[in-house]
Amino acid sequence: MANEIFVIKERCTGCGSCVKVCPVNCISMADRNEPNVRWKKLAVIDANKCVFCNACVLDCDKLFDKTKAKVPNPEFFHAIVMKKEESAAVNIDQTQYKGVWCYAEQRHGKIVPTIYELLTVGGQMAKDLNEELCAVLIGHNVTQYAQDIIDHGADKVYVLDHPSFEHFVDEAYAQAMTDLIKQEKPNKLLMPASIIGRSFSSRVAIMANTGITADATEFAIDPKTRMMHATRPSFGGNLMATILCERHRPEMATVRPMSFPRTPKVAGRQGKVINVAVDPSKWNIRTKFVEYKPETNEQVDITGAEKVVAGGRGLGKPEGFKLIEDLASTLGAAVAASRPTVDAGWIPYRHQVGLTGRTVRPKLYIACGISGQIQHLAGMSSAETIVAINKDPDAPLMKLATLSVEGDLYELIPLIIKEIQKAKN
Ligand SMILES: Cc1cc2nc3c(=O)[nH]c(=O)nc-3n(C[C@H](O)[C@H](O)[C@H](O)COP(=O)(O)OP(=O)(O)OC[C@H]3O[C@@H](n4cnc5c(N)ncnc54)[C@H](O)[C@@H]3O)c2cc1C
Repeated sequence: MANEIFVIKERCTGCGSCVKVCPVNCISMADRNEPNVRWKKLAVIDANKCVFCNACVLDCDKLFDKTKAKVPNPEFFHAIVMKKEESAAVNIDQTQYKGVWCYAEQRHGKIVPTIYELLTVGGQMAKDLNEELCAVLIGHNVTQYAQDIIDHGADKVYVLDHPSFEHFVDEAYAQAMTDLIKQEKPNKLLMPASIIGRSFSSRVAIMANTGITADATEFAIDPKTRMMHATRPSFGGNLMATILCERHRPEMATVRPMSFPRTPKVAGRQGKVINVAVDPSKWNIRTKFVEYKPETNEQVDITGAEKVVAGGRGLGKPEGFKLIEDLASTLGAAVAASRPTVDAGWIPYRHQVGLTGRTVRPKLYIACGISGQIQHLAGMSSAETIVAINKDPDAPLMKLATLSVEGDLYELIPLIIKEIQKAKN
């Protein structure tokens, strides 16, 4: 049965309330054009646009309850009826799904260390569930990394090593991952919320007919239901939402890089390496790799940097980043930024730290002219030492910082640079 939604004409008062609550603007009010009718308008729903979110149904039911409280009027409202398709996955046997899987991302044949963060989260889950911790490695000439992943905690590594995976093509990677999921039936699947992870995890979720929590920063296993509780910032970081995937398997999530520590390496750990046969001829891949153009960026990458100097709106002008770069180069640090400076075009997006930017975990984070709103803190609050330079002693970051320096950054930063240079000589 396909999803259905319709309006019971006799119950609709044409009040228009449902039009306001519809998030996709698929409801309109039409004239009834009928003689002797009490209500002149009628709600009309475009079922092709409807996302079946239930908002209009709940709204109409709520109006019914309100009306009933004042004037009993049971013949109106409750006018929208929605019938949702029962998912094929509802009846899956969840007990068949075992193991916590982590996707080991590689770029240009080199393993990305985010896998060690995923193994931390996945390892705890595997322990709580008493199930195996597995990793999936897809690429070309990557088998050499399997033992390293075992050394970092995996019990088993599925290796899909094939020339067709030399360059990342999300269709091919997603197809390979989905085939393996269907064959092996993992219970949970964690992927990095990197550009690559985000791109193909959503495809995998659709192809494997399951749900995914994107960009999660906290995880827990419910001991009763054995379900994964994946928590992520929502509404601009003002709320933390815990998302469950009750009826589909595997439960999937992407994990925000730098949100968890890395598992330590124990050289020579025992584990299984499973070489998975790959047959791309079965797949219908519509995209092909054409060319890779690396970014010409000589500055240090912020996500891996041990020291980061960040500039905010307090710089007042794009040229202010020259001062941030001077301090960064004196310290051998990477340059980061708050979102308003990126939005204003003062510095490229790759430097943005925060909820909609990157997460960093440096040993030292120097924030210059950054107030410290929650969305910025989401990307840097786990830095070991935070230094805030700000004119306003009451700015949130001045309160959070390990060391708060009150004053004008244009006066303070040149003095700090001088002192560092003196100390170096
Ligand atoms: C959905 C959503 C996502 C967001 N994502 C991000 C994100 O990823 N990253 C992010 O950073 N923000 C993000 N934001 C924006 C965030 O809410 C803040 O607006 C932003 O972080 C503020 O940046 P700021 O601290 O540079 O600017 P402001 O809040 O304007 O702070 C400027 C600071 O500079 C100080 N100052 C001014 N002049 C000087 C001076 N001469 N010397 C010293 N100090 C001075 C001021 O006292 C002030 O504290 C997001 C917002 C939303 C709604």
